[in-house]
Amino acid sequence: MFYDKAKIEIKAGKGGDGSASFRREKYVALGGPDGGDGGSGGSVRLRVNVQLNTLLPFHYKQKFKAEDGGPGRAKKMHGANAPDLIIDVPPGTFVRVIETDIIDPTVRKTQEYDLVEPDQELIVARGGRGGLGNVHFATSTHQAPRIAENGEPGQDRTVEMELKLIADVGLLGYPNAGKSTLLSQISAARPKIGDYPFTTLEPQLGVVEVDTQTFVVADIPGLIEGASEGAGLGLEFLRHIERCRLLIHLIDGASGLFPGLTDEDLAALPTGEQPDRDPVSDFERINGELAAYSATLAARPQVVAINKMDLAETQARWPRLRTWFTTHGYSVIGISAATGQGIPELLRRVATELRELPPREALAPAPPTPAADGATHTLRGEPNEDAFTVMKVDETFYRVFGTKIERTVNMTRMDNDEALDRLQNILERTGISRALEAAGIVPGDTVVIGRVELEWNPDPWQTDEGRRALRRGSRHSGPGKQHS
Ligand code: GDP
Ligand code: MG
Repeated sequence: MFYDKAKIEIKAGKGGDGSASFRREKYVALGGPDGGDGGSGGSVRLRVNVQLNTLLPFHYKQKFKAEDGGPGRAKKMHGANAPDLIIDVPPGTFVRVIETDIIDPTVRKTQEYDLVEPDQELIVARGGRGGLGNVHFATSTHQAPRIAENGEPGQDRTVEMELKLIADVGLLGYPNAGKSTLLSQISAARPKIGDYPFTTLEPQLGVVEVDTQTFVVADIPGLIEGASEGAGLGLEFLRHIERCRLLIHLIDGASGLFPGLTDEDLAALPTGEQPDRDPVSDFERINGELAAYSATLAARPQVVAINKMDLAETQARWPRLRTWFTTHGYSVIGISAATGQGIPELLRRVATELRELPPREALAPAPPTPAADGATHTLRGEPNEDAFTVMKVDETFYRVFGTKIERTVNMTRMDNDEALDRLQNILERTGISRALEAAGIVPGDTVVIGRVELEWNPDPWQTDEGRRALRRGSRHSGPGKQHS
C-alpha cells in the first residue's frame, strides 16, 4: 500500500450572520438599528512542518472544517472571528487544490503548488466574511432597516497531495543479514509499507509507527556487490538515501557459522579451514564499502542490530558481540527478524535517536510547477472583484460568475423584502441585469449566481404594485433554491 498520496475534503468556516436588531429604550417602541456584524469564518491553511515525513495521518482523517464565525448581536456587538484551521504537511508535498462547480461537478478548477520551505503556508479555502448588521443599512430616508446580511459561506475544496517518501533511516547490511525480513516484519506488525519505484532497483521503503512517532525506513540493497563502483544503485537512489539521518546496521548473527558449530568449535579448526566471515568482520567490511560509496552516509550514526538471535549459535556469540560493539562505541541490540524478538526495543531506540538528531535539512526548492497554460500559479487575490461574466447554459438557464456579485448574492437574505430590493438595485446598477437581458433571459428563466438559484422576474421588484404582489406571494420571483 502507498502512503505517499492523500486526498482530503476541506471546508472553510461560514461567516457569522449580521444582526437586524433595534435598540430598546424605555418608552420608545422602536429605537435605532443596533444589529452588529457577524464574525469572519476560519480559513483552512496548509503549513509545512519539517517534523513530518509522511502523509500517513490523512489515511485516518480526510475531512477538515474550520469553525464558523459568530453571529452579530444587539448593541452593535460583533460576532467572534473564527480561528484559521491549520493542517500540517511534510516538506516536499505537492498540492493540487480542486474547486468543483456547484451545478456541474464535472467542471473543476485546479491549481497546483509545491510546499517545500519550512513553515511555508498555503491558504486552500477562505473563510466567509461576516454579514453586516442592520446598523450599516440605515440612511436618512430609511432609518429603521430590517435588513442584515447573512454570513458568506466558506469555500469548499478538495485537496490532493503527493509526497515522495524520504527515508529517515537507512537499513544497511550484508546480503542475507535479514534486511528484507526485518522490513516486512515491521510492516506485518503494522501493515504500512510500500514498494517505491525510485530506481530500477526499487528499494523497499517502510513507514514505521512507534507510539506517536512515524519514520520511513529504506532498505539499502546490494551495497556490497560493487555499488560504490556504480553498479546497481543509481545516483537518484544515492541522493535519496543520503538524506536519511540514521542507519540501522543489521548484522547476520550467524555469519560464518556452520549449522551446529559454535565459535569454539570453529576456533578449533585448522587455520586454513576457518571461515572468512564473522559478524565483526562483516560489519567492518560493510562500513568500508559504505565509506567508498558515500562519505555522507558513512558519517551517519548507526544503531547496530545483531539478527538471528533465535538461533542457539548466535545466542552463544551474543555476550562477545555485545562487548565488542559496546566498547567500540555502538549501541547494539540483539533481535530476531524471524520471530520479532527485540524488534520493539530496536524501533524504540531508533525513534529516540531520531528525536535527538537534528532535523533533516530542507529540500532544495523545486522549480515552480508550471500551469497547463504555461503561466505560473502563485497565491494571489482576485484581479478584479467587480468583473462578472454571464453565461447562457441553455435556452432557459443562465449563470453569472463574478467574485463580488456571487458574494453579495450568497450573503443576501432571500426571505427579506428589503434585502431583495437591495439585491435588485445592485443587479441593475452593475449592469448585470442588462447583460442577462442581452444574453436573452426572459421572465420565468432561471439564473444561478453563487450558490443561489433565482427565477428571473425583475418586474415585481420595479413597481410598487409588483412589490405588493410579491409580498402577497401571488407571483413567484427571485428567491429560490439555496445550493450548498
Ligand atoms: P537480506 O538479504 O538482508 O534482505 O536478507 P533476507 O531478509 O532476505 O534474509 C536472508 C535469509 O535469512 C532468509 O532465508 C531469511 O529467512 C533468513 N532470516 C532472516 N532473519 C532471520 C532470523 O531472525 N532468524 C533466522 N533464523 N533466519 C532469518
Ligand atoms: Mg533483501
